[in-house]
Amino acid sequence: MKLASGAAVALVLVIGAAFALTTPEQPVALPSPSPTATIAPETPSPSPSPTPSPSPTPTVAPTVAPTQRPRPTNNIAGQQLMTYYFQIRAAFPIFPPTPQLDFDEPAGENGDAWYRGVNAGGQPIFAVREDYVMTPSTAFHELGHAYQDLVQRKNAGADVMAKYWTYRGFPGTWQGALTEANAQPVGMAQWIHLPGESWAEAFSVAMVGGGREKTLDYGRTINPFAMKTWFASLMPPAP
Ligand SMILES: [Zn+2]
Repeated sequence: MKLASGAAVALVLVIGAAFALTTPEQPVALPSPSPTATIAPETPSPSPSPTPSPSPTPTVAPTVAPTQRPRPTNNIAGQQLMTYYFQIRAAFPIFPPTPQLDFDEPAGENGDAWYRGVNAGGQPIFAVREDYVMTPSTAFHELGHAYQDLVQRKNAGADVMAKYWTYRGFPGTWQGALTEANAQPVGMAQWIHLPGESWAEAFSVAMVGGGREKTLDYGRTINPFAMKTWFASLMPPAP
């Protein structure tokens, strides 16, 4: 009996324990479906992350695979600009002693040479396509872009492009021409309308001493000699 009663007590304890174990188990089991429901919103969240990651990858892959040759890591073609640079600097001391020459652009790039603005040290930045044979016309064109920047920086209050537009006798304003240019298809159609390209072309023709600008001249045929004098007139007076 002692055993039995003991067993009975033990059995009660086991049942109680089982009940006690079962009781908490049920609340545990109940919340578990709700976490499962919580996982459901998690399922969409993985889907956004696959979406961005594959899309850049295929975009880069086709670009790299067929076209990309190793980019030049020298500026051998760019150095062709130097004799022209020094020639221009002799006439326009607003140019700093040396430019920044970026690494050459790969063969096949759509362009011969690029002016890329002025660096923190005030040097104009240029790049040339690696297989391009420099011409005076192209060199002076890029130097013309730089000259516009350098003169504008020295005359912060003035609108040197407006002065150019007036001097040339072009119709309307350069801002209007820029708007017109931006309405054109990208490429040559746009380029011939761009006021900055007109300036660079005029500078080139003036420095070469002849030829015609490839940008629109609105029937105002350029006079290279007078044009050069006008560009020189923008130079700040020597201190
Ligand atoms: Zn240009």
